[in-house]
Amino acid sequence: RIVVAGSANMDLVGLAERLPRPGETVLGDDFLMMPGGKGANQAIGAARAGGRTCFLGAIGSDSFGVNLNARLNGAGVDMTHVRTTYGVSGVAVIMVDRAGENSILVAPGANNAFTGLGDGERAEIAAADVLLCQQEIPVETVTEAARAARAGGTRMVLNAAPARELPPELLENVDLLVVNEVEALAITGGDTIDVPALLALVPRVVLTLGGGGSRYADREGRDEHIPSFKVSVVDTTAAGDAFTAALAVAWGEGRDLVEAVRWANAAGAACVRKVGASNSLPTRAEIDEIYNG
Ligand code: ADP
Repeated sequence: RIVVAGSANMDLVGLAERLPRPGETVLGDDFLMMPGGKGANQAIGAARAGGRTCFLGAIGSDSFGVNLNARLNGAGVDMTHVRTTYGVSGVAVIMVDRAGENSILVAPGANNAFTGLGDGERAEIAAADVLLCQQEIPVETVTEAARAARAGGTRMVLNAAPARELPPELLENVDLLVVNEVEALAITGGDTIDVPALLALVPRVVLTLGGGGSRYADREGRDEHIPSFKVSVVDTTAAGDAFTAALAVAWGEGRDLVEAVRWANAAGAACVRKVGASNSLPTRAEIDEIYNG
């Protein structure tokens, strides 16, 4: 059982030949709307990867909120404990041109109102195998969730994305940190990846390396590079979300972490074969197909 405590946005995606300049209006080619935000993406990813998944977060009382709830439910995510807050949901306004270049504006809306965990939310975290968080909700909430996980014997996975300040009270309750290279550099400072510096903060680290696969290191002295699976790349959006969700599911099932990372690499590879964000998150069958070659 996986609990994801994090953000949910409605992604409003406009497609056009080129991006408008400031003050300009461009007639577009197409428009689509789908769930987004790292929290919602990873919850959908975990459910598709075969994990029993519960989402904790805040969604607005607007029509986007109704739609977000329905879509996450439809993806098999337990939304029982999600808060409905009066006002707007998180929204990402995304423009994409024909070369795949994008401009994105995120309005966090209800996500910023996800503060002060209640007893029901704490109980869900304590009962789970793995708590998975990202950094698109208030850091105080992530810290509280991590404390509830530690108190309940639940393993805490922090995907430190996007890169933000990480208070010591949070880090001391993290069991596994998942970061890409940009996030790793943001945490340690400097201009080269410093895994020992990360291991000084948390007991286990997974570093994602895009097409280069990933690296797993822990305080017991394991340090392994796990190569990626070769696939034809169409769109790398949400690869990190697919990877992190699958990693949490596999660790929750009790798999060895290096094996879990290998399986998560297969999930990342399955994701980059398809266009899109939450819609390109792979199912367990798709992950296994790549994993088993
Ligand atoms: P993020 O999207 O957070 O920057 P990465 O780009 O590091 O994350 O991708 C996450 C994971 O997805 C990688 O560790 C890898 O397993 C998989 N992945 C990403 N890009 C590719 C690729 N081009 N080919 C195969 N696997 C990939």
